Amino acid sequence: MIRRFIDRIFSASPKQRKLIHGHQVTPKKIAKRSHHINPDLLSKNAVKVTAVLQEAGYDAYIVGGAVRDLLLGIAPKDFDVATDATPEEVQKLFRRSRVIGRRFQIVHVTFYGKDRPEIIEVSTFRAHVQADEAHVAASGRILRDNVWGSQAEDATRRDFTINAMYYDPHTETVLDYHGGMQDIEAKTIRMIGEPTQRYREDPVRMLRAIRFAAKTGFAIEPKTRAPLEQLANLIQDVPSARLFDEILKLLMSGHAWSSISQLQAAGLHHKILPLIDEITSHEDRLTFVKKSLENTDNRIKSGKPVSAGFLFATLLWHDVQEAWARYENNDMPTIPALHAAIDEVLESQKSFLGMQRRHEADMREIWTMQPRLEKRVGRYPFRLVETNKFKAGYDFLLLRAEVGEVSEDLSEWWTNFWLGDDIQRQELMTLAKSESTETSSTNKKRRRRTRSKNAKPKAPEQTN
Ligand code: ATP
Ligand code: MG
Repeated sequence: MIRRFIDRIFSASPKQRKLIHGHQVTPKKIAKRSHHINPDLLSKNAVKVTAVLQEAGYDAYIVGGAVRDLLLGIAPKDFDVATDATPEEVQKLFRRSRVIGRRFQIVHVTFYGKDRPEIIEVSTFRAHVQADEAHVAASGRILRDNVWGSQAEDATRRDFTINAMYYDPHTETVLDYHGGMQDIEAKTIRMIGEPTQRYREDPVRMLRAIRFAAKTGFAIEPKTRAPLEQLANLIQDVPSARLFDEILKLLMSGHAWSSISQLQAAGLHHKILPLIDEITSHEDRLTFVKKSLENTDNRIKSGKPVSAGFLFATLLWHDVQEAWARYENNDMPTIPALHAAIDEVLESQKSFLGMQRRHEADMREIWTMQPRLEKRVGRYPFRLVETNKFKAGYDFLLLRAEVGEVSEDLSEWWTNFWLGDDIQRQELMTLAKSESTETSSTNKKRRRRTRSKNAKPKAPEQTN
């Protein structure tokens, strides 16, 4: 205890003073008066985890993205804690905890409160793994990374300087090993170490650079940006489920359009979302997708849930429409043509996206509901409006109405039907009878038009 107290007062602990690659690494200590972290933005549970670990004699800090966000005055969406206790030692201290992960072994400590349960991720300080064959693929990608190290080593293996700071809620001090604070002030995303090597070790870092740039509005420092285009192909080595998670994080960052256009500007989209080129080169697609991503950002900002199926349903909707028109023009009836189009589009995405089946099922549901929402006959609207699938299909219809793809009258009709009682619903059905045949034939014509319009690409729009 006394040693810890003296260390705190005089300088970094012996662990922090450890040599790394021959360099003395001591962190800059940033006191409360210089960092202005608002304690109200802290998670009580994260503070509790650090306190329990510290009381048991371990080092423990809030770390990574949470510190970055706190320094920016943003409420972090989750909290990570880093410690010199091993996962087993951490697990012994918390009843509701479990060790998870293979590549990174971490401990999830769960807290149950009034709202959703909160999970605090606790990771043990790790050393930067050297490129020995047991851990590294031919491309340089690190496969397993469970070598414990000092805090200084742990800081060095993190990705960007702004993500490598440690905050002790007890002393309210930030420890900064790589000039992260300066980069926060200069609004810069800078890779720790040699960028090319760090991207080779883990190509997902390229997508993370884009995500943080979009989220913070910071510029990617030139040396950190330079290798992106050349190394873009490495993304195809990333397991597809991890890649899909990263894409979702980009789309759900609250800055989806900026993420997408920065991804495209850096040339990183070819192997993950090649459809971005299609979207940005067709004005109608662009308007629709931008509108959808704007809605997504607003939902995220107001804490509402966003579904991956819905997002991808909007991104791929014009592909579906094109294929649908093609099948219809080959004399396939409307609904089978739509199903054939959906099969084709989902199949074509398989090699890019590790999308889970449940997302595909959601997308199919949303798309197949569209012609039905336009028809409004028989008992179908009455049954549909009671199902839990209705809301997604209806939201999608609202989006289409917003860009003028279906009439505002139709979306309003559904809003009234959804909110109405039995008598009002009957009246609305009578009103719909006359309109529905007209709408569906216009849509068939419009789909044909969409196809011929899309056949002639326009010059790409300025997307920034
Ligand atoms: P956010 O949670 O806001 O998306 P984050 O920076 O917290 O951003 P996490 O994925 O939660 O991102 O990771 C927590 C921390 O772990 C990061 O801040 C960084 O220090 C480190 N980290 C995460 N992924 C990597 C990686 N691929 N390479 C190196 N360090 C990483
Ligand atoms: Mg995080």
